[in-house]
Amino acid sequence: MKPAKFTYHTPDSLEAAFQLLGEYGDEAKIIAGGQSLIPVMNLRLAQPEHLIDINAINGLSQIREEGDIITIGALSRHREIETSALLKERLPLLPEAAMRIGHLAIRNRGTIGGSLSNADPAAEWSLMAFLMDADIEITSARGTRMADITDFIQSVYTSDLSADEILTAVKFPPIAPGEGWAVCRISRRAGDFAIVSVATTICLDTSGAIENLRLCIGGMDVTPVRISHVEHAAVGQMPNEAWIKSAAEVASGIGSPESDMHASAEYRREMAAHLTAEALREALKRCGGGA
Ligand SMILES: Cc1cc2nc3c(=O)[nH]c(=O)nc-3n(C[C@H](O)[C@H](O)[C@H](O)COP(=O)(O)OP(=O)(O)OC[C@H]3O[C@@H](n4cnc5c(N)ncnc54)[C@H](O)[C@@H]3O)c2cc1C
Repeated sequence: MKPAKFTYHTPDSLEAAFQLLGEYGDEAKIIAGGQSLIPVMNLRLAQPEHLIDINAINGLSQIREEGDIITIGALSRHREIETSALLKERLPLLPEAAMRIGHLAIRNRGTIGGSLSNADPAAEWSLMAFLMDADIEITSARGTRMADITDFIQSVYTSDLSADEILTAVKFPPIAPGEGWAVCRISRRAGDFAIVSVATTICLDTSGAIENLRLCIGGMDVTPVRISHVEHAAVGQMPNEAWIKSAAEVASGIGSPESDMHASAEYRREMAAHLTAEALREALKRCGGGA
């Protein structure tokens, strides 16, 4: 199928983009990588009269560290994140997550800003942003505001963006030296969206007990979910196999997974337990702890 007729705009500054957004309001859509928008336009599920292509705007695709914050510009492609030397060193779970997104052609065009604006609960960047408590930078003609990821992604395909706003950057804290991490997912075929995904980071103290744990699961609810009671209860625990099994059991009971054409709710719960155990074991290996 082909999309309905639209007018294509290529502003070369944020100001020019805001002017177009102000002029056309709900009749306009921003296009970044086009990897989600174009398929829905081809299916005529979206029929914007104006497409505002933000790719000619400078300064939206940098990946940089300032102080202890890593800022990833909205137009950074999945592939740029996958191959970033800075991220491989300071936040290696992001390149690891990026390499699982779709296929190379999708990763070459798709952007982190487009993915988060799209608010697909199965998307890799939603999982990473919830895991790391990312902050979202949103800019409009009225100025710039920051939003916590939990306020930004509200439900399936529902974000806190108004029609006149552009997601301009995502801010992540780096992981600490020696911190273990893992990203695990299951999909029916390579290149498909994940059915269930789990990401974690673990810090151990000098005695080998858990000092800090982040644990996040996707595919079990309308947004990724942090398993905060496991995170809090883990502090001070020795990370042995019994602890891993109890965390996995909690993960299997999280959220309200749906049965759909990809998997039954029961299968999702089984995979949640399996992937949680796998992720915790892998993260512990990375920080020198063993179960
Ligand atoms: C076959 C296939 C497999 C895929 N597999 C995966 C996968 O396994 N994991 C995964 O995470 N993703 C997957 N994707 C989705 C892919 O990652 C998309 O690139 C991403 O979801 C959207 O990013 P984009 O830059 O292409 O956004 P676009 O398609 O350009 O835009 C998406 C939406 O966001 C809005 N938007 C875009 N940028 C901004 C911005 N800066 N500010 C405000 N609004 C904005 C647009 O108006 C539109 O509504 C897959 C896609 C395909 C086609």
